[in-house]
Amino acid sequence: MPGSFRIFRIAGIDINIHISWLIILVFLTFSLATGWFPITYPGSSTATYYLLGFIASILLFVSVLLHELAHSFVARSRGLQVKSIVLFIFGGVSNIEQEPQTPGIEFSMAFVGPLVSLLIGVVCYGLWFLVRGTHSLIVPILSYLALMNIILGIFNLIPGFPLDGGRVLRSIIWKATGNFQTATNITTFVGQAFAYLIILWGILLFFAGNAFNGLIIIFTGWFLLTSAQSARSQSMLDTAFRGVTVNQIMDTNVLTVPANISLQKLVDEYFLPRGLRSAFVMQGDQLAGLITLSDIRHVPRDQWPQTPVGYAMIPLERLHTITPQQNVKDVLPLMTGQDVNQLAVVQDGRLVGVLTREGILRSLEIRRNLGVDRNRTAS
Ligand SMILES: [Zn+2]
Repeated sequence: MPGSFRIFRIAGIDINIHISWLIILVFLTFSLATGWFPITYPGSSTATYYLLGFIASILLFVSVLLHELAHSFVARSRGLQVKSIVLFIFGGVSNIEQEPQTPGIEFSMAFVGPLVSLLIGVVCYGLWFLVRGTHSLIVPILSYLALMNIILGIFNLIPGFPLDGGRVLRSIIWKATGNFQTATNITTFVGQAFAYLIILWGILLFFAGNAFNGLIIIFTGWFLLTSAQSARSQSMLDTAFRGVTVNQIMDTNVLTVPANISLQKLVDEYFLPRGLRSAFVMQGDQLAGLITLSDIRHVPRDQWPQTPVGYAMIPLERLHTITPQQNVKDVLPLMTGQDVNQLAVVQDGRLVGVLTREGILRSLEIRRNLGVDRNRTAS
């Protein structure tokens, strides 16, 4: 996700923070220091309230992190790869490479997150119960964490996709109907309906004079709405390309350039006359790399005549390559995730074709027009 940076690594999972989370940290500290703590812990100094607000915000962040780690650890124990966790304005997201393969896996992966939040809430409530008589600074922090984690757990159990509850519901419908697409359609529909309700609630709050909370709630609703929509189109893509392999839609007519020609010759004889933005580079009959406009720009213009293409290109080791037999739906994440417009299709070191974004869209368009995807869903 752009705008996020890594803060540390737990058990091989990168923990990233999105810049929006820093903004929320400031606002949360401020609102706790001026609202929650003066009410629940009266008679202290402003500095104490800000300190309490800051500590409570950080602990809330730790709670959200534990919730996400629970998803990630269960996902990993079921054989799914977890790359990173991003914490941002609305909570956290675990970047799990693939969709779960069975309803059972999806159920346990989704359910464990809210479960952990509710457990943290109950534990904090229990601790609060033990120390509530004392005039300790820990009392208002515990009551805040208990309340927030229980809200977090319950909110995430709302049965609309992409919330955890939506995933739980999807796994149940998936199990009952045997159809992943139907389950996704129903739960994303519920998710969108909830998102509209949340936006409506935010608008009402906004006009009732609670502008800040109103805006936060409107943004939360809007985020849920767009997530539900993108989940829906993602699963539509998956369905459209189910059983379709790369060789069925790749472009076999690939323009390649030799590695030993100069950048000057590449620009004059290939890029300019043909309007190219990139080309695959060959060393004999083996694929050696990819050369793009920006690689050329990195070399000063006066050195173009002496610089061979092979020197300026992105070497093969740094390219994602795929094989003709791979499923299109498995290689799609390589394209959406990494800002890659084309993937080299390689068989035994030989370039046999190229899979482009345009090629995928064209094929999707044709499949939809012919109703191919619908037949597949029904079968
Ligand atoms: Zn969750």
